[in-house]
Amino acid sequence: LIVGSCCIDFIRKCTVIQSYDIFFYMILYSSREYINLWLWMQRLITQHSCYVPQFPKPGETIHGHKFVTSFGGKGANQSVMAARLGAKVSMVAKVGDDTFGKDTVENFTTNSVNTGQNSFVSVKGSNDLLTPGDVEKAFSQVKSAKVVVSEMEIRGETTLRALQLAKESGSLTVLNPSPAITNLDSEFYKVTDIMCINQLETELLTGLPVNDVDEAKKAALVLLERGCQKVIITLGKDGAVLVTTETKTPEHIPVDPVTPVDTTGAGDSFIGALAFYLAHLPSLPMNEIVRRSGRIAAVSVLSSGTQLSYPWKRDLPTELF
Ligand code: ATP
Repeated sequence: LIVGSCCIDFIRKCTVIQSYDIFFYMILYSSREYINLWLWMQRLITQHSCYVPQFPKPGETIHGHKFVTSFGGKGANQSVMAARLGAKVSMVAKVGDDTFGKDTVENFTTNSVNTGQNSFVSVKGSNDLLTPGDVEKAFSQVKSAKVVVSEMEIRGETTLRALQLAKESGSLTVLNPSPAITNLDSEFYKVTDIMCINQLETELLTGLPVNDVDEAKKAALVLLERGCQKVIITLGKDGAVLVTTETKTPEHIPVDPVTPVDTTGAGDSFIGALAFYLAHLPSLPMNEIVRRSGRIAAVSVLSSGTQLSYPWKRDLPTELF
């Protein structure tokens, strides 16, 4: 079960950056020639990505040369990744009562993600309208989820309620504290079995530098001490660091580095794969689960887009299953 955000990503031929209500944006260098500019708008309800030759200066109009429309939202990405690996996935989210909302639901269906009864709301910012009450209703419908994943693109109280309900019903909980936040209430740690977080997010949450594996190990211990059972810090081409309450000894789990085409969504790919392994191959040692999730995420960086770049089970080596 994945409780989180969904939206349509716009990767648009950009002639002008319009004045949207921008929450934050980040720039990803997808190759030497291209800058993939993501505008994260209205708390990621709609993402606009532009392929442009260089970052525009304030007030400057520049021409882009690539337009792609695709689906996103961290929760949606993670659920699609898990479903493509063969997991039975339910998604709890809100979408708008418009073409984009309908297309989003259709995309879930295409990717075998169960959305149950669709409920539409007719305002922008639908991710913010997902309430703890909605989650309670959803949990009464999804009787027994082995794994529940949530992130911070929806309201904090909703994420917390999802994790609490998951713990009460005996599910394994995965929290991806992303987008980056500087403060997380101690209650979140108590109901988190596995925290999966990237380098930058770890720096913000711990206040520690995470420039290399050794620094990631130190930060992982800090997060572990706050109360979760396991911490995974993903480190891009350097793989991940894992620490668990059992050993309290952080372990570096490398990945074979690849030359990325587009790293966008690699973290969500990792988490979707992680959720799949936790649900389907729970007897695997945790470091092996992290290793395999990392290998799958590595495949996702070899092509453009987020969900578009996620592999299906049939495209992956059988030894991963
Ligand atoms: P994003 O925010 O772009 O979705 P992220 O910062 O959350 O990504 P990363 O830590 O960059 O996530 O990457 C997640 C995983 O993807 C890594 O742990 C690794 O397994 C894989 N990965 C990313 N980049 C590479 C690379 N160049 N080579 C091999 N694997 C990679």
